[in-house]
Amino acid sequence: MDNTFQLDLLKAQNESLSRSEHIYRMVCESSDYGFIYQSLDSDDLLTFGSFENMFGMKLYRVKDLDVLLEKIHEEDRNTFLQNLYPEKNNEKYATCEFRSADEHTWYRIITRIETEGESSDKIVTFMNITKEKATSSDLLYMAYYDTMTGIYNRNYFVSLLTEFLTRADSEGCKVSIMMIDIDDFKKINDVQGIIIGDELLQQVGSYLKGTMVKDRIICCHINNDIFCVAIYDSTGTFTVDKYYRELKKRFADGFTMSTGLEIDLTASVGVAEFPDAGNSALDLINCADIVVYNCKKNGKNSLQYFEAPILDDFLKNVDIENKLKEAAFNNNFLMYFQPQYHAKTRKLRGVESLIRWKDDDGNMIPPSVFIPIAEKNGLIVSIGKFVVSESLRQYKKWCDYYDVHFKLSINISALQYKRDDFVDTIMDLIVEHNVQPSDVELEITESILIDDFDSVTAKLTTLRNHGVSISLDDFGTGYSSLSYLKKFPIDTLKVDKSFIDTILDDASTRIITESILNMSHAMGFETVAEGVENERQFNYLACAGCDVIQGFYLGKPLPAEKVDELLCHMKR
Ligand code: C2E
Ligand code: CA
Ligand code: CA
Repeated sequence: MDNTFQLDLLKAQNESLSRSEHIYRMVCESSDYGFIYQSLDSDDLLTFGSFENMFGMKLYRVKDLDVLLEKIHEEDRNTFLQNLYPEKNNEKYATCEFRSADEHTWYRIITRIETEGESSDKIVTFMNITKEKATSSDLLYMAYYDTMTGIYNRNYFVSLLTEFLTRADSEGCKVSIMMIDIDDFKKINDVQGIIIGDELLQQVGSYLKGTMVKDRIICCHINNDIFCVAIYDSTGTFTVDKYYRELKKRFADGFTMSTGLEIDLTASVGVAEFPDAGNSALDLINCADIVVYNCKKNGKNSLQYFEAPILDDFLKNVDIENKLKEAAFNNNFLMYFQPQYHAKTRKLRGVESLIRWKDDDGNMIPPSVFIPIAEKNGLIVSIGKFVVSESLRQYKKWCDYYDVHFKLSINISALQYKRDDFVDTIMDLIVEHNVQPSDVELEITESILIDDFDSVTAKLTTLRNHGVSISLDDFGTGYSSLSYLKKFPIDTLKVDKSFIDTILDDASTRIITESILNMSHAMGFETVAEGVENERQFNYLACAGCDVIQGFYLGKPLPAEKVDELLCHMKR
């Protein structure tokens, strides 16, 4: 090899070496990581990459590490040092995470020892992992807490409650579950809007959070306006009654929204206790839930303890509900008709159609049991349509066959009235069955009018304009203000059976009934007394000026063929 060639080769090698060094340096300097390099046989250090950005300094000697140590959180310093010197334990690799002294930043280091022949080098890589940490702590937060209210979520509550139960089992203690359901929250949401609704839930959540006591009281947000509290009581210090008293007071004091609006609350609270009501967290929560439902039914703003009959009732209702769905699907109902007579002439004024349901096992289930269930789950809409259609079909047959006309009274539920298509549904069915609208009377209850006065009044007025008449059922059990009645588009008023029941024995009932009859006549309403069971009641009411009498005394609800006999008899 000649010299020139050797020189060229050396030059090319140098160039390639400095080029690859340049590339390495570029990569390191543009990296987000910081690096320390140390040859283990010297005290010199080299820092590069983002190290200076991270810690605001460079390191030149091993002793400079003391300054770095000051920038690390006190509690994490030992870990850091152990992982900085793996060689002390004859290790070649170590990694750990640590916080900055101000706790704002999280770092991870990876220390690596590379040995080649006699010499060893150490490279320590520093990474900023603050973001990664934040995401995982968010995830951790979401696994345990409810994001809306900041208290425990249901899943975590169940697991903490399960721990309570295990502990209570071995210590022979009681654990109480309180299901707290805010009364009329839907109204607040509807009237004030969901932003205020959410703010209110947050405030309730933070109040409940403040009531938590380590290992004794835990709270969670179940959903919507429902919260749950578990109280572990071994000493009688933390009792349901005490908790409820304080909660009730706090709710009554009211919560101040950011808009300045004050909202005071009441709640329905259902309590189930371990071990009496159940052994598992879910059983207890379910029991408390059933009790809350019962509380709501019985007028809200109260606390009720779980008792076995409540569960029996509930299960019976669930059973009925399931069967009812099937019956509604197959229209497995029939209509009975109870005659109504003019008090003066004892002539037939009309019939009230009353639904009957015989379930598959042949049991007759009374409407007072299944109608409220159907109203709650919405089935009443399809059942109600069947009622109207079937009553009209039957009535039309009588009209044609016996050449008669009388009133056909049909009971209508609130849910039916609230629908936009209510008027059309009724009128379409009347037209379809070719019945005179003036023969049809709809029985409604006061609650309908109070709930949504304007829109219901408009619908009733349209129906009356078509010739359909409106009867106010169960009068005397609801709001029952006669002056209020003036505004309602009604034709007939049915005095509730509870008045008729005591009319002969109770002077004040007589006074009220007579004044109802007088005033409703003055306002132009026809009056019907329902539930008249004997002659004395009949005579009394007839004398008092009641127009129409309905009740077992003159006739029980009858299947259609029995009404046929009645009409046949009338014709003769
Ligand atoms: P309601 O509308 O007040 O019906 C009168 C109830 O009193 C009927 O009970 C009837 O059988 C009963 N009754 C009539 N006269 C007497 C009497 O002299 N003594 C006694 N003890 N009871 C008498 P029923 O048929 O069990 O209906 C109960 C309730 O169920 C009804 O009360 C009504 O609110 C509802 N309902 C019945 N059928 C329907 C329907 O087709 N649709 C809707 N939405 N509700 C209905
Ligand atoms: Ca009725
Ligand atoms: Ca009634």
